[in-house]
Amino acid sequence: MASNTRIVKVGNLFVGGGHRPPVQTMWKEPLRADSLRAVADRARLLSGLGCGILRFSTPDMEQAELLGALAGMVDMPLVADVHFDWRIALRCMDFPIAKIRVNPGNLGEPWKLREVAAKASDKGVPIRIGVNAGSLPLDLQHEPDRAVAIVAAAEREVAALDELGFRAVIVSMKASGVEETVRANRLFAGRHDIPLHIGVTEAGPLVQGCVRSAVAMYALLADGIGDTLRVSLSDEPENEVIAGAEIVALATGTRQGADIVSCPRCGRAGFDTHAFTERWRDRIYSIRKPITVAVMGCIVNGPGEARHADIGITGAGDKVIVFRKGEIARTCAPEDADTVFGEELSRL
Ligand code: SF4
Repeated sequence: MASNTRIVKVGNLFVGGGHRPPVQTMWKEPLRADSLRAVADRARLLSGLGCGILRFSTPDMEQAELLGALAGMVDMPLVADVHFDWRIALRCMDFPIAKIRVNPGNLGEPWKLREVAAKASDKGVPIRIGVNAGSLPLDLQHEPDRAVAIVAAAEREVAALDELGFRAVIVSMKASGVEETVRANRLFAGRHDIPLHIGVTEAGPLVQGCVRSAVAMYALLADGIGDTLRVSLSDEPENEVIAGAEIVALATGTRQGADIVSCPRCGRAGFDTHAFTERWRDRIYSIRKPITVAVMGCIVNGPGEARHADIGITGAGDKVIVFRKGEIARTCAPEDADTVFGEELSRL
C-alpha cells in the first residue's frame, strides 16, 4: 500500500505522496576543513549505494560553515541537524541545504521559530521535526504509554509550525523499541497527512540494528506508512544505506540495485565466499540496476544459483567457475577469482 501523505520537496527529491521512500544516513564525525574532499568522495559512494539524503550534525557555526562548503561539492540533498540555536538554522539556509532538522520547542522564544520558518519558507527548505523517546518533554515523561507520549510531543511541535502557516514538514517519531516505534507512527499516520521519516533509533550494532529496523519498517511500509527512512546503526553509514535500500526493495517489491545471493559457507567451500562478498560489497551494491549476483562456495548449490543469477561465481573442487547470464563464462584458480569476476562483471 502506498503512502498518501502530502508531498514535501527535499532538494531534488519528492518525499511523501506515495513516492519511493528515499534512504537516508547520517555522517558520523564532525566535519573538518581538511576532510571535505574525502567526505564528498564518500558521499558519492553512499549515493551510489542508494543513499538519497545525507544528514550532518551542526552543533555550532563552524560546522554550519563547513556543511555549507560541502553542499557546493555534493549533488545529494544534505540535511543540517540543528538543535537549540536558531542562528545556526538561519545560517545553514544561506547555503544549498535541502532540509533542516529542528524542533520548534528547542529554539526557545517564539520569535526565533518565526525567523526560522520565514527563512525556510522563503528558501523552499522543509523542516523535519524529530521526536525521540529518550528526549521527551518533561511533562510527557510520565505518560504511561510512551507511544502516546511520542505522538503528543510530535503534534505539539507540528502545531507550532502550523500556526505560522508552515506546511513543508516531515516528522519522525523514534524509539529504540520496535513496538513503540510502530505504534507511534501508526497513531500519527491515522491523524495527519504529514510525511513520516521512519526508523528505530539507537537500534544497536549491525545485526541487532538491522533486524529491529527491518521488522519495524517493513511493518509500517506494508501499511503504507513511511515516506523516507534511516536504519540507525552503531556501524558505518554504508551498512545503514545498504540495509535501508534492502528494506525498501522488500517492502515495495521493486529493486533499484543489485541483489546478492551468497551461501553461508561450510566445509565444502572451494573458496572464501565471506571474504569475497565483503571485498565486492560496495562495487556490487553500487550497480544501480536490479541484477542478481550469486557468490557460492561449492557445487552442491553453487551452479544452480549461479546459473539463475545475472552473474555468479562458485567454488568447484580446486577451481572457481564464473557464470554470466546462465552460462559458464570462465573457469579459473581461486586466487584469480577477483580478477576474472571483475572482468566478467564489467561485461554485464
Ligand atoms: S553452497 Fe556449498 S559451501 Fe556453500 S553452504 Fe552450500 S554446501 Fe556449503
